[in-house]
Amino acid sequence: MTLVPQIDGERLLGRLDAFARIGATPAGGVNRQALSVEDRSARRLLAELALKRGFGVFQDGMANLFIRREGVDAALPPLLIGSHLDSQPTGGRFDGALGTLSAFEALEALEDARVETAMPIEVVAWTNEEGSRFAPGVMGSMAFTGADTAAWKSTVASDGASLASELEATIAALPEATPRPIGVPISGYIELHIEQGPSLEKEQIPIGVVTAVQGTRWLEISIQGAAGHAGTTGLAYRKDPMVAAVAAMHSLQATIMPLDTSARLTVGRIAAQPGSINAIPQSVTFTVDLRHPRSERLDDIEAELRRVCAAEAAAQHCTATIRRSFDMPGAAFSPQMIDIVEAAATSLRLPHKQMISGAFHDALFIARVAPAAMIFVPCRDGLSHNEAEYVEPADAITGARVLLQAAIMAASSRDLLQR
Ligand SMILES: [Zn+2]
Repeated sequence: MTLVPQIDGERLLGRLDAFARIGATPAGGVNRQALSVEDRSARRLLAELALKRGFGVFQDGMANLFIRREGVDAALPPLLIGSHLDSQPTGGRFDGALGTLSAFEALEALEDARVETAMPIEVVAWTNEEGSRFAPGVMGSMAFTGADTAAWKSTVASDGASLASELEATIAALPEATPRPIGVPISGYIELHIEQGPSLEKEQIPIGVVTAVQGTRWLEISIQGAAGHAGTTGLAYRKDPMVAAVAAMHSLQATIMPLDTSARLTVGRIAAQPGSINAIPQSVTFTVDLRHPRSERLDDIEAELRRVCAAEAAAQHCTATIRRSFDMPGAAFSPQMIDIVEAAATSLRLPHKQMISGAFHDALFIARVAPAAMIFVPCRDGLSHNEAEYVEPADAITGARVLLQAAIMAASSRDLLQR
């Protein structure tokens, strides 16, 4: 007799508690930074739970951890479900852990019900998603998709540890895991994650069907003027870069986001040189964090920003130079996988809405090599990267149910099999 696989809510919540104890902080959060002793303990616990259930345990050279349940056809590339186990230094207990442990719960639910899937399904815990101890973040998934990792070899953590030696020690700490090469073929990827923003909670919608991760671009604008005496330099003689910077910022803030609701423009840092109370500054530098789901719109907005800054600088007899310091293109998720997640939520009669992720996730990279999608659940006050991060137990269980349903559908999807 085949049973219908069911998420065991108590088991999932118990696991969330157990993992939250690894690196627990007094304020109720977790400090389980990538490749730390605490990270190794969490990986060990997951591997032990997996071995106890008879699942295969693998790790690659980036310490990405995979828990495999065989499918009917072992030759098919696996469907991956999961997230990450590392945290921010003062992180919450759900960021990453919810997606990883819900994926493991889904695997156990399939095993409990003895349900066979066409594809093998693997739970993945990606290495160093957060990037707080070792920059950059999303290292594990980037390496998995073929990123050049040579430059990371010399990376040193804020605490003085080297990435190469911590990686080696982390891999060595789990000898039960079978080594595998980085970047094996996969059929698809589904990641459950907390929203890390307020919209689902505010709208009282339990499930977000994530259709894209927006791209991020960082720009540094430097406006050069002429330093002068604040008291003796009349208006006609001023080349004041502050006037130009303020005008440029005002113009951009008054147009970019109001005219395009998908755009995000933030000025987070501003500095005047020499920074004297009674001198017209020589130069003013400010940063812009620009985000948009569509790369071509990021290009348009950057072009507009360059035009505005040059014009406002010229109006003050100043000059503007603009440097791009970071560019992370966004990704639109696969329509097939989005349909599967949506169908899973619909089949469970759960209200859901399509949305775009404002933060990056491992899924951003995996989407470049396989059909991928994400499921979001609400978190209290949209709070994350914070020890007070909280997810209602019912919402965590609901997210896991959608993940399980979507995984069942994806693991036998004709579309994915015929790719
Ligand atoms: Zn995360």
